[in-house]
Amino acid sequence: MRLAEYDGKVLLRRHGLAVPRGLLVQTGESFPDAAAGWPGFVLKAQVLEGGRGKRGLVRRFDKPAEFRDARRLILPGLEDADTPLLLEEAVPITGEIFAAVRIDGSAQRLELLLAPEGGENVEAIARLVRIPVEQNAPITPEKIFASLGKQFPADLGARVARYAARLPEIARQEDLELLEINPLALTEKGTLIACDAKIIRDAAADFRHDPAEFALSQKLAGKAMTKLEREAQALGFQLVETDGDVVLVTSGAGLGMMMMDLIGDHGMRAASFMDNLQGAPDETMTERLKIARTMAMRPNIKAIVFQTTLASRSLAERIDALTDWLTAEPLPKPLFVGIAAGHAATRKMTTEQAIAKLQALGVSAFTDPVALVKAAAKVVG
Ligand code: GDP
Ligand code: MN
Repeated sequence: MRLAEYDGKVLLRRHGLAVPRGLLVQTGESFPDAAAGWPGFVLKAQVLEGGRGKRGLVRRFDKPAEFRDARRLILPGLEDADTPLLLEEAVPITGEIFAAVRIDGSAQRLELLLAPEGGENVEAIARLVRIPVEQNAPITPEKIFASLGKQFPADLGARVARYAARLPEIARQEDLELLEINPLALTEKGTLIACDAKIIRDAAADFRHDPAEFALSQKLAGKAMTKLEREAQALGFQLVETDGDVVLVTSGAGLGMMMMDLIGDHGMRAASFMDNLQGAPDETMTERLKIARTMAMRPNIKAIVFQTTLASRSLAERIDALTDWLTAEPLPKPLFVGIAAGHAATRKMTTEQAIAKLQALGVSAFTDPVALVKAAAKVVG
């Protein structure tokens, strides 16, 4: 789950990190009295995409009377005129630092990212310091300071190192895939204040957290969902629609990503990514195929790739359910099935028998995912 900036800052404050004072303002609400005494203001659209500054969705102003104008300037840049706005106390920024902790996917550990020049053009920064965070050895300010080298002036470097040393523990406690603070503002007084927060929490850990919290983020995510993505959620699994020509049916994020890569490597693009939902039924094959059938009606879709893996559940049951389903209503586009079945799954039906049974229905089936994707690529062209 991607947190809206407002919710992200609630999380940061909970862990004792300084954020500017702020209030949510809904459509039609006037300037909040509680903000009257602040020294200056920033009005920020609460959308889940970044780059708001460049899109005119972040506006600075000095007096409460300018609030209406600031809001009027933001409005044309919004897809939804009812997007809530975050009104914040303006922080006098003398330097913009980039600080982040994220999961380094290939090394399967956290890493810290720090740069002295954050802000809106962070993509262009050359001086990004990457510091691995080992599982068993907590990262210390001293270690971070040493890794920073001469990137920061020494006194600031020490402060940034102390600040950054707290981030990995917050990411662990909150199950975050990404905690990015950009800008981490350096103020005239020399304090560090998180002026923006981009936070992504691992959806697989949602069950560990209060389902009622971060209502704004949930509402924004719900609005951004497609009709089919919502339907999939109601059926018990997660669907992400992407721009592509092959409907991909998998379960589990790891397998889904591997198959997406394979499909990409063979000149096609996956139009779907599927994952399991915590607490949902663990068997949703027909539900997934139902969504796949709807997607496959679209003219841009050329094939359906279904990769199934079975450890102990019965392959016979799965194939019988699949063939029944296919016979009841044929699919609008060719289906390619990949089967990876463990020993315990094949007691009643071997993989070879499963493949033969599918081929009798005109469905190509494979044990090797690469062969599967290659066959699909021939049809997609
Ligand atoms: P993003 O563009 O979506 O990442 O939105 P940000 O929250 O990062 O805001 C964009 C830019 O506005 C930041 O990089 C800052 O330069 C500026 N900004 C945001 N908050 C403040 C603030 O409180 N004071 C000042 N002076 N600038 C701010
Ligand atoms: Mn930002």
